[in-house]
Amino acid sequence: MKDLAAPLAARRAAGLYRQRRRVGSPQAAEIEVDGRRLLAFCSNDYLGLAAHPQIAAALARGAERWGTGAGAAHLISGHSRAHEALEEALAEFVGAPRALLFSTGYMANLGVISALAGRGDRVFEDRLNHASLLDGARLGGARLLRYRHADAADLEARLAAAGSSERLVASDGVFSMDGDLAPLPALLAAARRHDARLLVDDAHGLGVLGPGGRGSLAHAGLVPETDDLILVGTLGKAFGTFGAFVAGSEALIETLIQQARPYIYTTAPPPALAEATLASLALVQGEDWRRERLRALIARLRAGAAELGLPLMDSTTPVQPLLVGEAGAALALSEQLLAAGILVPAIRPPTVPEGSARLRISLSAAHSEAQVDTLLAALDAAGAGRVA
Ligand SMILES: *Cc1c(COP(=O)(O)O)cnc(C)c1O
Repeated sequence: MKDLAAPLAARRAAGLYRQRRRVGSPQAAEIEVDGRRLLAFCSNDYLGLAAHPQIAAALARGAERWGTGAGAAHLISGHSRAHEALEEALAEFVGAPRALLFSTGYMANLGVISALAGRGDRVFEDRLNHASLLDGARLGGARLLRYRHADAADLEARLAAAGSSERLVASDGVFSMDGDLAPLPALLAAARRHDARLLVDDAHGLGVLGPGGRGSLAHAGLVPETDDLILVGTLGKAFGTFGAFVAGSEALIETLIQQARPYIYTTAPPPALAEATLASLALVQGEDWRRERLRALIARLRAGAAELGLPLMDSTTPVQPLLVGEAGAALALSEQLLAAGILVPAIRPPTVPEGSARLRISLSAAHSEAQVDTLLAALDAAGAGRVA
């Protein structure tokens, strides 16, 4: 039997120990953490919808109508009319023929990739893809090939060298720890020249980018309506609820219903949750001011950081990482901010590459300009301009 304590101690000594905080308030710009009120720049609640009263009311009404549990998997008796209505609304929202709900984004990625790429097939992934996209290739038993970050030419070279086999390309739309955008039109063109499908995981773009918040694909002028373009959207970030969906062609969705194990072998999400997400979708589509406000806050943060010489990474999205380098230094900076009442997480290897530890600042429409200024002043006081 393996000793568990020594590796834990080693991890702690290396500054890589992961720990949870206890939050005692709903999501907002300021949250209560372990009994303290903190100004938080760490959630993915980009539009400020995670505690919206209209969505909470829809969840409560949904619970009255449907109860709490779905009772079974979608393919047994768990697939309610509320789920069906949400799938139809999401498909229409992103312009896809069909959409299929999954319990989480993690499971959606596992489900799509393992259903489309099995043993003997190849999955091509950006080096900075989210862990769930990598795990999807493992679950299916496909061979995983990783191409240089956001580099369609490198992808194309690898596709050309791969010989004949089923090929699937997968990329984050917005990279979760970097905030930059994948070159989607170039990735899709490369995939098409080599008879490959492209899967775009838009966990951080949906609701935030594109007209009406339709996401990274819409931002790039693409629509997931053909057999070779697949969208995964998550609902726990900008949408402020929970869960995920896959959008694409009729044949794709039917294939997933037949074959995606993380879809088949799990209980359907609560129908009340589907009601809540329908309410959220109306706000995402209808309230452009949330995206406009977010853009203004991003511009303010970037202008202030440039003035102070703070090394923000190149990003136009609400994910605004500040590069530090060593894990210990990132942790120390995060702790200094915490002492000043500001919560910004240090992101360390293996989540990001060795030597690129960072503070992952995330902005939300729930923040005020004054709060962004407070963050800038605290970063300056902590010497964040001098660490990288
Ligand atoms: C958060 C995230 C997921 C997982 O989604 P969940 O619904 O939280 O499981 C998948 N991909 C990316 C890029 C993410 O950031």
